[in-house]
Amino acid sequence: MKYIDEFQDPELARRLVEDIHATVTRPWALMEVCGGQTHSIIRHGIDQLLPGEVELIHGPGCPVCVTPLEVIDKALEIASRPEVIFCSYGDMLRVPGSGRDLFQVRGEGGDVRVVYSPLDALRLAQDNPGREVVFFGIGFETTAPPNAMTVHQARKLGIRNFSMLVSHVRVPPAIEAIMRSESCRVQGFLAAGHVCSVMGTGEYPALAERFGVPIVVTGFEPLDVLEGVRRAVRQLERDEHTVDNAYARVVPPEGNPAAKAMLADIFEVTDRSWRGIGVIPGSGWRLAARYREFDAEHRFQVSGIDTREPAECRSGEVLQGLLKPHECEAFGTVCTPRTPLGATMVSSEGACAAYYLYRRLGGGAGGTNAASAGANSPASGPGSKRERDSAHTAVSGPRRVPEPVSAPESAPESGPGQGAEPDPAAEPEHAEHAEAAERAESASVSLEGSPVV
Ligand code: SF4
Repeated sequence: MKYIDEFQDPELARRLVEDIHATVTRPWALMEVCGGQTHSIIRHGIDQLLPGEVELIHGPGCPVCVTPLEVIDKALEIASRPEVIFCSYGDMLRVPGSGRDLFQVRGEGGDVRVVYSPLDALRLAQDNPGREVVFFGIGFETTAPPNAMTVHQARKLGIRNFSMLVSHVRVPPAIEAIMRSESCRVQGFLAAGHVCSVMGTGEYPALAERFGVPIVVTGFEPLDVLEGVRRAVRQLERDEHTVDNAYARVVPPEGNPAAKAMLADIFEVTDRSWRGIGVIPGSGWRLAARYREFDAEHRFQVSGIDTREPAECRSGEVLQGLLKPHECEAFGTVCTPRTPLGATMVSSEGACAAYYLYRRLGGGAGGTNAASAGANSPASGPGSKRERDSAHTAVSGPRRVPEPVSAPESAPESGPGQGAEPDPAAEPEHAEHAEAAERAESASVSLEGSPVV
């Protein structure tokens, strides 16, 4: 298969690994921004092939994981209303809010439906003129354009019973927040290729310059990730910090102008809270005031919600790269994909889910990297949190081996309360790391096109 097999070639991978080994002379900590990259790294054992000096830190690039608890609770509130058909991607159903999740709302009679695209929700609105159809619009710069286009279509088609609960986030402000953190250990970034396929690379040179870090635009197949690591390490060894596009087959420097124009028309930048992290200035999008009629928060007046995170969940530290999932006390015991305490165990791009799915239970290069642990790190001194976490992992003994999660295979359910409890990994996933070409195609749909009708 073109553009898949070529980027999983074992011989080419071996040569890239050898090159990285030959280049590295000192410890380096790189953050892969996207959860899709995290899954590729853990699935293919890429971190275990790298020299001990190279530590891969998992970043906050999972759209489901970072959706704020308050917004999840608003979704639960809206989905509970009898007049509402609430539409979401499958992996949102199990994301815990303050006490329950969308799947429970569906079990209690709420009309919660799994869809594959926002246009499915718009079609539902057309087919059910007596109901209010609400689409849960979350994600990064990759899913924002098709969601924006759907709002554009709703207005164009005069569909009044459609609205969107919007919680979109933007990557560059998150990178800035990570670098400004006192506990930051990141020395280079593997930027999310699909985000750049939409937005281009224009926002990154200023970040690379300001914080003195190389930023390498990276794809998702094993060779993509290894090449991203190779280029980042090469820059670090040379004391360079530039933006390098290692995903040029998908990412043009200017991104996708049609998608960017659609975003600029439908959304406006806003401060956004990231679950487990807090508010990051300018890190989100909301519907522009002229599209308020399609804003579910405005239409349903959900405010004053009292949110409660489970105290034992440490996903905020996982999302900031301060903790590896298996270093969490609850990992694989009280917290599993079927009994998740945090979104990072539910999402198809969540780091905790990746470690659970691929049975990364501790130790080794995928765990705390002993060769590089804490080098150059303000958080790594004696008695530091990282040191305590590492020590805990070392002395806690073998963990119970969780059952592997089955691969996705089932079709989505479409009605309320149907069927048995779904395997979260078998639900249609949030499409953040689907093929970039497909994403670019959907993002560039003509503004005049009408895929709904
Ligand atoms: S393993 Fe579970 S409880 Fe621990 S950080 Fe991950 S989601 Fe939270």
